[in-house]
Amino acid sequence: MVEPIFDYQFRLILIGDSTVGKSSLLKYFTDGKFAEISDPTVGVDFFARLIEVKDGTRIKLQLWDTAGQERFRSITKSYYRNSVGALLVYDICNRASFDNIPAWMSEARRHIEPHRPVFALVGCKLDLVNNGGQREVSKEEAKTFADQNGLFHIETSAKNGLNVEEAFSSVTQEVYNRIQSGEYKVEDGWDGIKTGYSRPTNLSYNFIEAEPAKFSCC
Ligand code: GDP
Ligand code: MG
Repeated sequence: MVEPIFDYQFRLILIGDSTVGKSSLLKYFTDGKFAEISDPTVGVDFFARLIEVKDGTRIKLQLWDTAGQERFRSITKSYYRNSVGALLVYDICNRASFDNIPAWMSEARRHIEPHRPVFALVGCKLDLVNNGGQREVSKEEAKTFADQNGLFHIETSAKNGLNVEEAFSSVTQEVYNRIQSGEYKVEDGWDGIKTGYSRPTNLSYNFIEAEPAKFSCC
């Protein structure tokens, strides 16, 4: 008897200006920890975590970090091409990082074509705002931009973990919904979505349940 370790693998990327909090978000999601000092140039290529979507299907997320390359806009085409979803990350206390989101989004769209990625707009460092920091992007403005562009929007903190889980699980649920509806398919030569592997039933794994998605996405 075998049952799947995971049913699908989704490849997601995090993009946005340098220092907005991408690596911290990933670290919290995969490790449950916040690292006060983070070196922008040192990073692993990708992280992985299993989550379950609403019907119990197990998804392995392969999550790619840019490891400092964003400074030079030198992200390669294949980094984008093989993705099914992207988290567009900005810093709530850094106006310029939000103003650059449309550029990041069109860059991603252009390279991911002909596939149509799921995007989430993720504001980071919410804890700073709640601790006397200067908010430079209002929630309403970000939400309006997200609605106009068919994106899910959420404000998070990698310091206290607020909404980190939801940022990733919502994208995951939406990708899965698109597989269910037939819009997305597993394709040879494309790593965005892959089918999973099986394992003997006598091994046990812990899976973390995904939050319900709050999407009205493109
Ligand atoms: P990246 O360049 O987008 O990967 O950004 P990093 O994750 O390396 O974060 C840049 C800096 O912001 C680091 O000093 C982090 O400790 C800090 N940082 C990241 N996320 C948060 C957060 O949610 N709250 C606070 N207070 N600081 C954060
Ligand atoms: Mg980084």
